[in-house]
Amino acid sequence: MADALWQAVLQEIEPTMSRVSFVTWLTPAELVEVKNAVATVYVPNVFYKQRFETHFRDQLLAAIQKHAPAVTALVFTVSKVANDAEVKPVVETASGQRSAVAVVAGMTEGWPTQQSDQSAASGTLLSRYTFETFVEGSNSRLAYSAALSTAGEPGRRYNPLFIYGGVGLGKTHLMHAIANTIVAGHLTMTALYVSCETFTSEFVESIRNRKMDWFKKKYRSVDILLVDDVQFLANKEGSQEEFFNTFNTLHQTNRQIVLAADRPPAAIVGLEDRLSSRFGMGIVVDIQPPNLETRMAIVARKASEKGALLPDEIVEFIATKAQNNIRELEGALNLVIGRCEVLQVPFSLESARAALNGMYQEAGRRGVTAETIITTVAEHFGLTVAEITGRRRTTRLVYPRHVAMYVLRDQLGLSYPDIGRAMGGKDHTTIMHGVDKITAGRSQSHISQALDAIRSKLG
Ligand code: ADP
Ligand code: MG
Repeated sequence: MADALWQAVLQEIEPTMSRVSFVTWLTPAELVEVKNAVATVYVPNVFYKQRFETHFRDQLLAAIQKHAPAVTALVFTVSKVANDAEVKPVVETASGQRSAVAVVAGMTEGWPTQQSDQSAASGTLLSRYTFETFVEGSNSRLAYSAALSTAGEPGRRYNPLFIYGGVGLGKTHLMHAIANTIVAGHLTMTALYVSCETFTSEFVESIRNRKMDWFKKKYRSVDILLVDDVQFLANKEGSQEEFFNTFNTLHQTNRQIVLAADRPPAAIVGLEDRLSSRFGMGIVVDIQPPNLETRMAIVARKASEKGALLPDEIVEFIATKAQNNIRELEGALNLVIGRCEVLQVPFSLESARAALNGMYQEAGRRGVTAETIITTVAEHFGLTVAEITGRRRTTRLVYPRHVAMYVLRDQLGLSYPDIGRAMGGKDHTTIMHGVDKITAGRSQSHISQALDAIRSKLG
């Protein structure tokens, strides 16, 4: 009866939200019982529970009441008492206690004591890397939602989940978020996060010290194994063999595997075919570099987490400075906040620019100057430098000119008057107008493509 009621409720709710939200949030939930006018809905973990409390409670209750008017209250639970044993196997700890194992970034029980930097090698689960602190953008939407559903139903959705993307784009953050969510929500589940180096070096050590039993126990007894930067398995034959066996053991018993790398499985040279095909068996999702809007959202969020109220123009300034990845973005933000705190000056574009001075020098060191930018933009549009810096106002010339102004500001952080001088002696208001035009239009695909192409030519 709960089942039929739940189906009816889902039918009410489904049309009211996006497909991704519905699949992510509602499909893992379940109505477990209706008793004494209280409906109990099971959700996979505390993170879901929070979300349901804040986002879905009213809507759900209303939908339930429509079909079961006697219901007056709704509670969310993370345990399905009766099914627990089957869904979430309790793992024996090394000491043999059958306990609710919390976990576990690198269970180290039984590891030979001579191993030097144990904690560094094992890694630790970083509590600040959660889904809540991850700012989703169009660049990371798929990875984010796949990670979320994996955390919600480990071993049941995508197995393995393979996340790839360039450095500093949030892969490790998402892996920790999955593990953190699981640790917080399932008292009976164990998750193990390790870097690929930890896996390979522990494997090698285990052979040397005849500790293979320990090694197998460590890696094959967990409910969720997360291995970061698996591109480092390349050309390590012994480790690949062991990884293959570990993978199969876990996968065959529906234990969740999450992997991250800097490129997709098939592109990892020196990785055996049987491994790369297994890595692609579940879902492979990428994280792309964030666009300006997403970078701004990240800067704004990180600033407010640090208790700094930054004016929009500074948020934008930082986001245009640090384009490559989010680690760089955080670094730039820290420089700006740090400088203003130390000097006890208010946040201003000038102080931000001064703080990030080194980053322009960085662009300078890469050999990017105003001249190279103007030449590159002119070439991109098939114009001469004289045309692009000149005064004729045909549409053929005006748009490329605006692009050049924008890129000068974007890449070198030049002031409007400086850009005016570089562009053949133009007034700073002309420059502001040009930069604004591109800023306003940069979400259009032809403009964003032109900007991307120019940026990549500039290296
Ligand atoms: P990767 O593993 O892809 O090299 P990380 O996960 O280590 O990158 O991310 C680098 C830094 O950027 C971390 O401090 C992380 O918290 C932060 N970060 C990355 N992506 C995001 C995001 N979308 N929202 C908020 N912080 C992020
Ligand atoms: Mg990483």
